[in-house]
Amino acid sequence: IRRNPGQPEFHQAVEEVAEKLIPFINENPKYLDASILERMTEPDRVISFRVTWMDDEGNIRVNRGHRVQFNGAIGPYKGGLRFDKSVSLGTLKFLGFEQVLKNSLTTLPMGGAKGGSDFNPKGKSEAEIMRFCHAFMTELYRYIGKDTDVPAGDIGVGGREVSFMFGQYRRIANEYTGVLTGKNLAFGGSNARTEATGYGSVYFAKEMLAVRNDDFNGKKTVVSGSGNVAQYTVEKLIQLGATVLTVSDRGGFLHDPDGIDAEKLTHIQQLKNVDRVSLGEYVKKDPGATYTEGQRPWGIKTDLAFPSATQNELDEKDAETLITNGCILVCEGANMPSTNKAVKVFEKNKIMYGPGKAANAGGVAISGLEMTQNSMRLQWSFEEVDEKLQGIMKKIHAKCMKYGQEDGWVDYVKGANIGGFVKVADALLAYGVI
Ligand code: NDP
Repeated sequence: IRRNPGQPEFHQAVEEVAEKLIPFINENPKYLDASILERMTEPDRVISFRVTWMDDEGNIRVNRGHRVQFNGAIGPYKGGLRFDKSVSLGTLKFLGFEQVLKNSLTTLPMGGAKGGSDFNPKGKSEAEIMRFCHAFMTELYRYIGKDTDVPAGDIGVGGREVSFMFGQYRRIANEYTGVLTGKNLAFGGSNARTEATGYGSVYFAKEMLAVRNDDFNGKKTVVSGSGNVAQYTVEKLIQLGATVLTVSDRGGFLHDPDGIDAEKLTHIQQLKNVDRVSLGEYVKKDPGATYTEGQRPWGIKTDLAFPSATQNELDEKDAETLITNGCILVCEGANMPSTNKAVKVFEKNKIMYGPGKAANAGGVAISGLEMTQNSMRLQWSFEEVDEKLQGIMKKIHAKCMKYGQEDGWVDYVKGANIGGFVKVADALLAYGVI
């Protein structure tokens, strides 16, 4: 805490990982003797910069940008960019630290990073978003490259923003390389990248259910968020036979007791991706549904829960409510949506709990495959990529089982943390004192 003051989310992420890793490290003294955990909790490099841009009224605005290149032991740095007013260095350090373990779990050669800005995209015009993205990349471009560091999207950074940034990179670096992922299909994007995090999270849950010979058929499900991850989580859940009862946004949550079907999902996508308005608008068209302001969906009776909005959106009390209401599985599309105390409740009750670093790794895995396709200068079909995604989620699940299987229960947190750690730790050991 003295070393990293004012970074509570970073402390939270490290604490959760260290708790599971320390017993393993004690059993494997080669990691202890080489101070591997100390090395892995210190970023390789933190870059901060000013982003100056002009709003539509001609005012000059100043934001702060960061890139945290956390650990590059097993490949080029890889991880998303977040544009949100809440972004601080501590947020990006927590995300970058988690990303190192997640990327290792995917089995692909990618180091971990995260970046972003405290720029608030809410209420900004398209022209302002473009000017900000161009200004952001004008500074970031000197630190990234296809073999060095390959950023992607995250909260507030979708296809539109990636396109603005890629256009600016291409222009100022005078090179056409896969320096960002999540690109448009017309200029180097991968099929199924948009869907990958949400689909991957559902594929991971499918594997978890299969351990108990169970599946999605007829299962009631609550999802939080209504952005990229949530939308494709809902789509895949519907396809696999679950009934999705909720989605949410910053203002509250939407509950549709009849279930959100494919047509209703299209309506939600129109509201969030095109009109960029509150989910509250949904009930105008579907009066059977309700929008509850200022609340999250964890009080709705459900079998399965997919937190897919943001960090710390599910606390101890929510965890208890979910379990009292009969929830048997929690699968995290978002990064660290459950507080550490909520995780303890899941563990105490031995429900199936898939932590984000394993369950939402499908997005970065397909980003990794976007890099592969860019290097080969070809594009695989949607079906091909989707099949690879399913294979990768299976492998991640198997790795979690390998390190996390206990008597009659799987500790996925332990499995994911140790599974992600070993590969990076072994690379650091092999490199010597680095
Ligand atoms: P989007 O920006 O597309 O969507 C974010 C969603 O979460 C929106 O519905 C937003 O509401 C809601 N939200 C954001 N902040 C808050 C908050 N403080 N309280 C309540 N709701 C909030 O982001 P993504 O879907 O891409 O990301 C969601 C989560 O998934 C993040 O934790 C991200 O790190 C993680 N993730 C994303 C990956 C990806 O490929 N995109 C990969 C792996 C993890 P509103 O509509 O009101 O803004």
